[in-house]
Amino acid sequence: MSDEIQQHVDKAYAYAKTFCDEGHVADYIPALAEVDPLKFGMAVALPNGDYCCAGDGDEAFSIQSVSKVFTLALALKCLDDTIWDAVGREPSGSSFNSIVQLETECGKPRNPLINAGAIATTDRLINGGSAEDVVAQILTFMQQRAADPTVYIDDRVATSEAGSGARNRSLAHFMSAFGNLKHPVETSLSAYFCQCALAMSCRQLARAGLFLAFGGKDPVSGERVISAEHCRQINAVMLACGHYDNSGEFAFRVGMPGKSGVGGGILTIAPGRGAIAVWSPGLNQAGTSFVGSIALEHFTRAIGWSIFE
Ligand code: GLN
Repeated sequence: MSDEIQQHVDKAYAYAKTFCDEGHVADYIPALAEVDPLKFGMAVALPNGDYCCAGDGDEAFSIQSVSKVFTLALALKCLDDTIWDAVGREPSGSSFNSIVQLETECGKPRNPLINAGAIATTDRLINGGSAEDVVAQILTFMQQRAADPTVYIDDRVATSEAGSGARNRSLAHFMSAFGNLKHPVETSLSAYFCQCALAMSCRQLARAGLFLAFGGKDPVSGERVISAEHCRQINAVMLACGHYDNSGEFAFRVGMPGKSGVGGGILTIAPGRGAIAVWSPGLNQAGTSFVGSIALEHFTRAIGWSIFE
């Protein structure tokens, strides 16, 4: 079975690679602007512990907003449904760092996968403790999920974003003004910038997402990570909101719950089958990897892993 999947990965990789000079690397975070735009990796993690990889699938990159899926999982695990007091679960139809809805909707972000929603989620996870403790908790969670202790937070990226994060500061202050942040703005933001600076390879990211394809249980270790109900909820939110104003297009073309990051990574979940991660730094207008989405579309069509199949 994994030989056949490897062939599909190789074909999708070869096809998508021809588009590698299209898309634009995120440059509003200076450290991300330095990344080689021609990098391209892909990895599928399977429930028997096997992997199918291609290209730069073992090179660590900045996972950025893909981290929001994992902090949502942690928030549901630790705080249960109370997280929905802080964030909604409707698509925003706006860009990832948009502020417009926050005013008319009284500082409650539409969903946990836009920046405002992720900042509010991380703020709730801090739960009266320190930003450092929550960052350590997130890092440990990611190392466990990836089954790899080498997963790390790239301090250079976190510092770079903190130094250029006026937009996220605006979102956070706006929510704070409505009473929807429980900690000082800089406390919540410092944890948020660190989670976005998690550095992982496609292989590690796909492995980390595997529990979301198997009802909240890690199929390799057998560990129950989150409840089956929370897992369903996360997949639903990913499908509807994982790519901001490009979520409908991604669902249309790829047909799987997914989450993009401006580092060029995308994690997609094929329920009951596996998890797929791609990385190519050139982005489309919504901040989703241009080549990554082509590879995923090609792969899922060929192998029939769309949830609508
Ligand atoms: N750290 C980035 C930001 O807050 C994450 C955005 C993204 O990956 N879409 O702007």
